[in-house]
Amino acid sequence: MNFYVMTLFPDMIMDGLKTSITGRAIDKGILKVEAVNIRDYTNEKHGHVDDYPYGGGAGMVMQAQPICDCYDAVVKKIGDEGKKPRVIYLTPQGKVFNQSMAKEYAKEENIIFLCGHYEGVDERALELLDTENVSIGDYVLTGGELPAMIMIDCISRLVPGVLGKDESADIESFHDNLLEYPQYTRPVEYKGLEVPPILLSGHHANVEKWRREKSIERTLRVRPDLLENAVLSEKEKKYLRSLEEAAGTSDNL
Ligand code: SAM
Repeated sequence: MNFYVMTLFPDMIMDGLKTSITGRAIDKGILKVEAVNIRDYTNEKHGHVDDYPYGGGAGMVMQAQPICDCYDAVVKKIGDEGKKPRVIYLTPQGKVFNQSMAKEYAKEENIIFLCGHYEGVDERALELLDTENVSIGDYVLTGGELPAMIMIDCISRLVPGVLGKDESADIESFHDNLLEYPQYTRPVEYKGLEVPPILLSGHHANVEKWRREKSIERTLRVRPDLLENAVLSEKEKKYLRSLEEAAGTSDNL
């Protein structure tokens, strides 16, 4: 899978993704990440890429020309005649990114990201590039580079071969719209706290049941909004109802 990131700070992208799991996948050729410097495409003789906002107001706005020319160069590089690659503009005004969006994006061969800075980007660039606008959460950052890295990290781990074992991405938080169950590793006892005995029983069916129940409990306690779309068996729905009833009289979930 190929990620092209249009940015004013290419080093930030490459430095952030070259280590750990994404770095290994890049080295293996499973992923390609290319940060393209928007500044290289400006027609302005001093290398400027931003200007004052029409209508006044604080801050600077990234100009359309360098962004559109940078985009044309990236599309040429991709060379996939006929098929328009998806272009994601990172913005707090976008649809909030989540795991199911990541699954959709992981099916693509090429994705282009546009990172804004300052007060953002001239609206005409977004229109001309026909961007999908995506936010990583309801807060404002200084630039789109960290959001792009977050999205690339999340999408990459769903690309076959990126994780050590393909199944590792299958059952974790947001699978079935539930948060993951608690995890434990050696030793069995630490500072007086013991691993739940069921995890040491070797009884796989019971371990699985316990984990599902803990996932449901945790989701109800921390992110009850997810439960509306959770995928639960009839038995699990009953278990959830019993927890909800108990929560009416006790918050000891
Ligand atoms: N003036 C803009 C507004 O109010 O919507 C915010 C601009 S922000 C300071 C600069 C850049 O950071 C944005 O163009 C965007 O690329 C990026 N950014 C900031 N917060 C973000 C978020 N929550 N998700 C994605 N990108 C974000």
